[in-house]
Amino acid sequence: MNYIIFDMEWNQPSDITAMVTEPLPVTGEIIEIGAVKLDDSFKIIGELRLYITPKYYTRMHKRIAALTGIRDKDLMTRGIPFPEAYEKFREFCGKEYGFMTWSMSDVPMLIDNMLLHGIDVSDLPVCYDIQRIFGREIMRSDTRYALDSALAILNEKGDTAHDALNDSRNTAIICSHLDLDEYLEEYGAQVFAGQPLRQVYSDHREALNDPALAEVTCPWCGGRLDMEPWIRGERCYMSCGTCPEEDEFLIQLAMTRLPSNTYRARRLMYEMSDDLWDIYMDRKEPLGV
Ligand SMILES: [Zn+2]
Repeated sequence: MNYIIFDMEWNQPSDITAMVTEPLPVTGEIIEIGAVKLDDSFKIIGELRLYITPKYYTRMHKRIAALTGIRDKDLMTRGIPFPEAYEKFREFCGKEYGFMTWSMSDVPMLIDNMLLHGIDVSDLPVCYDIQRIFGREIMRSDTRYALDSALAILNEKGDTAHDALNDSRNTAIICSHLDLDEYLEEYGAQVFAGQPLRQVYSDHREALNDPALAEVTCPWCGGRLDMEPWIRGERCYMSCGTCPEEDEFLIQLAMTRLPSNTYRARRLMYEMSDDLWDIYMDRKEPLGV
């Protein structure tokens, strides 16, 4: 089993009116993937950097260009189309692998870009959020630390930030300070994605009340999940669902505002881990529901 630490940079529409909304709302188009591969004893055994020629947002957003140093010219000369890049990334990952990322924002962005290019999303791996492990196990806190703050806390220098490969290397440095053998079981969750949801809502409330959004099928037994009411999480809504065979899942519902000032929903599903259960209960308990 390999562990793939990866980070991505993505381009954005110049403003919301320029957002591409079909076949799904494109909040970000991946332009760089950086990855570090660890073997099952967490030793670094490979590195990868890919630039991707954008198809939807072909001009770099000024802010992103300034942040990442990636210019239009770089993508034109060094980039390859996303489907080809994804193929190379998968080859790099190997047969059996899990994803490790700093925060949980890269995995949904990768899934969105796969869907955008019609790539199969039925076989996604187990994911580990290293930022969460660092916060909980080293800092004993729910605070989400920036990667450079975490490096500073550990007295590590690291490589220049906002570069997908450097950020992956930096996350690998943090990993070398963590007793991963001890933590992985508690924090690992397989992720599941369906096809994009097409319904448009006038506001969040209308979406949360739509029974269709709470119709979720267990990826393992095919049974319908018994869902709890949506509650507000960190930048998304959450629910816990239990299948007829008693398997539990955390369902995340994110709402994307469209140029027409309406919303589309995106649903992702995670196998329930001890840590996701803690995240869910920390939000649910104060509500008394
Ligand atoms: Zn099931």
